[in-house]
Amino acid sequence: MIEIRDLARAYELDSGRVVALDGVSLDIDEGDMVAVMGPSGSGKSTLMNLLGCLDRPTGGLYRLAGVPVETLDKDGLAALRNRRIGFVFQQFNLLPRTDALGNVELPMIYAGVDRRTRREKALRALARVGLSERAHHRPTQLSGGQQQRVAIARALVNDPSLLLADEPTGALDSRTALEILALFQELNREGVTLVLVTHDADVGRHARRVVRFRDGRIVEDRRQEPLDARVALEAMTRETAA
Ligand code: ADP
Ligand code: MG
Repeated sequence: MIEIRDLARAYELDSGRVVALDGVSLDIDEGDMVAVMGPSGSGKSTLMNLLGCLDRPTGGLYRLAGVPVETLDKDGLAALRNRRIGFVFQQFNLLPRTDALGNVELPMIYAGVDRRTRREKALRALARVGLSERAHHRPTQLSGGQQQRVAIARALVNDPSLLLADEPTGALDSRTALEILALFQELNREGVTLVLVTHDADVGRHARRVVRFRDGRIVEDRRQEPLDARVALEAMTRETAA
């Protein structure tokens, strides 16, 4: 699904050159769930922006589903992004005056999908994240976890091949974070490829693979048996009851 070779991203500032990503090579298979970890400033968000076709590298190669991303112009990049990639952010990034349904419909408006199909697909995506009953609530009328579910429904609505999440549980309490991780694991079992950035080791333990960055380079890349977030949630519930 993802093939990157010697990928680099440098910023030229008045104070000098900042190398945010320093020659990274990485393959990610379809159906994987990867946690990108590392300290602040190590290049995680830079990598995500490149993977998500929101930014261009200053060196190296990136193929997404066989497409050499370097060869695309601005419109080509936007089209690839819209068709292939869903984004989830720490702060949810929902439109405040629009209800859940409207927020989930948004990417389909950009994709030129007709109104009736939009509504059907948005309702289906909200059902998939367990929010059918909240379709007409605005973000301020939803909890943080529910807002993140709306954002995940929005990310899924065009059936992307890749879901990118930058600190998706960073603004949530530990129980809600586990609920969101359980949802990610469920989506992953259904075949969604997931790359999630986190600096939290507890979050990382729910991924199938951990890729760790330091100073713009990969310093560790390992597979693991992921913890099941549902099991952790059940344990937490038992503890609270006891
Ligand atoms: P992380 O997400 O791991 O915290 P980032 O990818 O955001 O790290 O940043 C990596 C490095 O690149 C940092 O040193 C950061 O200061 C620098 N950087 C990120 N974005 C920019 C930018 N737009 N201009 C200049 N430097 C940047
Ligand atoms: Mg970051």
